[in-house]
Amino acid sequence: MDAASEVIVNSSPPKKIKVEGIHGTPSSGKAVNTPRSDYLGWDEYFMAVAFLSAQRSKDPNSQVGACITNNEKKIVGIGYNGMPNGCKDSDLPWGKTDNWLESKYPYVCHAELNAVLNKNSSDVKGCKIYVALFPCNECAKVIIQSGIKEVVYYSDKYYHKPTMVASKRLFDLAGVTYRQYVPEKKKITIDFSVIDPDVQPTGSGNDQNHRL
Ligand SMILES: [Zn+2]
Repeated sequence: MDAASEVIVNSSPPKKIKVEGIHGTPSSGKAVNTPRSDYLGWDEYFMAVAFLSAQRSKDPNSQVGACITNNEKKIVGIGYNGMPNGCKDSDLPWGKTDNWLESKYPYVCHAELNAVLNKNSSDVKGCKIYVALFPCNECAKVIIQSGIKEVVYYSDKYYHKPTMVASKRLFDLAGVTYRQYVPEKKKITIDFSVIDPDVQPTGSGNDQNHRL
């Protein structure tokens, strides 16, 4: 994952908004009875969910997340790359060695596969999938066979690899569309303390930066 893509937890000072009465104003003087304008857009939100789920990955080299949404803009599946259920993470290799059996490649389940299998709806026909990286050919097969109709990706940095060329060939033949989503912002900050600055983190540090 690029260093350019970050989710930062507890990185900024808490915002303090003081509401004075029903029609009062916060200490900043801004009116409080109008909707916010700086909320996340849908694409930004779903891509951020994919990036956040990637934080669960134990892969030391590549953390990738995926988020599937239906035509009601509801999330119906989330996944990240990891070893198959029941396989202890410590019992399998995580490296990228040329010795295939001793690399992660034959064992790890990609985010797209897990997102489809983790679906909480009867199927994902007609859905979109948000992914950090353009899907490989194996995931392209899963996406096509599951009925997903659109891929929204953040990066296609491995476009030159045969696996990505193959996945585009499959998508084009199967009528699955794909588009890059480039967010307006480089970072989205998740600040737990904005809800209640008095809750103290249990870790030793006040701030933790998670780099995807
Ligand atoms: Zn894949």
